[in-house]
Amino acid sequence: MKRMTHIFCTGSFRQFRLAACTILLLSSGAAEAALKVVTTTPDLAALVAEVGGDHVDVMTMSRPDQDPHYVDPKPSLVVDLARADLLVFNGLELEIGWLPPLQVNCRNAAVQKGGTGYFDASRYVKVMEADREANRAMGDIHPGGNPHYLYDPREGAKVAVALGNKLAELIPAQRAFLLQNAEKVAGSLREIAKREAERFRGLSKDQRRVVTYHRSLVYVIDWLGLERPLNVEARPGVAPTPGHVARVLSTMRSQKIKTIVQERHYPTKTSNTLARMVKAQVVVFPGGASFADKKELYSQRIQRTVEALYDSLSR
Ligand SMILES: [Zn+2]
Repeated sequence: MKRMTHIFCTGSFRQFRLAACTILLLSSGAAEAALKVVTTTPDLAALVAEVGGDHVDVMTMSRPDQDPHYVDPKPSLVVDLARADLLVFNGLELEIGWLPPLQVNCRNAAVQKGGTGYFDASRYVKVMEADREANRAMGDIHPGGNPHYLYDPREGAKVAVALGNKLAELIPAQRAFLLQNAEKVAGSLREIAKREAERFRGLSKDQRRVVTYHRSLVYVIDWLGLERPLNVEARPGVAPTPGHVARVLSTMRSQKIKTIVQERHYPTKTSNTLARMVKAQVVVFPGGASFADKKELYSQRIQRTVEALYDSLSR
């Protein structure tokens, strides 16, 4: 009798477990289906999250205050990449110093070149400076074209559309929503691009001249019709020499340049010194969207960046 009771209890328990599992599966269906996406930069994370909505679970491997050329490939990132369904990266060698070892160590076939979850965003944009003379041996870190295209919402719009297609391929049940949403995101980015280009055209030629610290603003310069005679860094990734700083100083004086733009992750000492000497302003850009902490949208971060630039140029 004791044994029979035991069997009965086990049976009930099994039934209970099955029922509980079914309820769990039904109730957590949406969460379980979310595609795990790992991106290299916060801008890409913000774009994926906006295009994918509830169907993606996104994390970024770098913060906006980190130089995306140099991120520490720490072990926790290997674990994140090992679990990813999709890797979204900037490309054009932006991550060449840190992403390849993470890919090798994570042993996740999906995120390797040719895998189903491998997305190189640079394939969908108009690459600038692809034929610029660059020499990696001399320290130039943009040998394959300028990788900072996400400063330009026109390029961000192209990436949004391509992301919609990629996500639709991986989540076919949501295809219609993803493609439509990607178009919506891209449409609003194209609108911002048009509106801001018109606003900046209203500035005088003198007001539209800037000096940038790193060679990261070529896309912004093209988009907003600015002029940038030179950068504080003589070559991308190489600290400025006294001789080059003297050249920047005399150019700023002769061309009456009143604005130096740089990202938060670069040292500000040289820019501040230059600014003091010619009564210019240093505009510090965020390196990307505040995605991890504030869920800032890519479009909001573009707007925030452009606002700071316009304020300085229109003084
Ligand atoms: Zn760069």
